[in-house]
Amino acid sequence: MIHKISEYWNDFISLLYPDTCKACGNALLKTEHYLCTKCRLDIPTSDYWLHKDNPVNQIFWGRTPIEFASAFLLFSKGSRYRKLIHHLKYKGDKDAGIVLGELYGKTLANQSLYKSIDYIIPVPLHPKKLKKRGYNQSDCIAKGLSKGIGAPYRTDILIRTVNTQTQTKKTKEERWNNVSGVFAVNNPEQLEGKHVLIVDDVITTGATIEHCALTMINASRCIVSVACLARA
Ligand SMILES: [Zn+2]
Repeated sequence: MIHKISEYWNDFISLLYPDTCKACGNALLKTEHYLCTKCRLDIPTSDYWLHKDNPVNQIFWGRTPIEFASAFLLFSKGSRYRKLIHHLKYKGDKDAGIVLGELYGKTLANQSLYKSIDYIIPVPLHPKKLKKRGYNQSDCIAKGLSKGIGAPYRTDILIRTVNTQTQTKKTKEERWNNVSGVFAVNNPEQLEGKHVLIVDDVITTGATIEHCALTMINASRCIVSVACLARA
């Protein structure tokens, strides 16, 4: 009986304050979560995972032995999906990363290359920055990807040992120097022979990811692939 009453109460509350789709702002149905069905169907995805010569993969050509790299979303400036990434990064909206990460993961799970992923590893934040921000946006995406792909995500293997300044206003060269030597691997033997998927929110020059990849490859001879939500 109490259960019934609380159910009625929840229905009543949601009539007054319906959950809204985070992309278009329309009220969500009871069966919908975070994004409405239309916005889920309309997600402007790339098809980078189908092409070895995709623009994100090409970032690493001749630089770092990345097995495969892709980005999930392709959007233009005013896109309603762009703000989801902004909310994930700056407004504490962890669900944005988890929901998009899971959709991305489900897409990748159909690709033979991604069936061999052993660990999903987010680009780490320095513990000081993590404490200040309260969360790492890449962790949220990794969590979603993990659900979609069905491989575990690990935040205890790759760590950031130096607290770097933000990359946003830096040139390509400055970005490279800024992240040089800032990552380390805990117990590298656990990566030996594994296929690791590095996760970041937005890829720009790829410098941060390259350093993460090289740190892991040099420590353990693992295979590294890359998944980003979007490309800057
Ligand atoms: Zn919507």
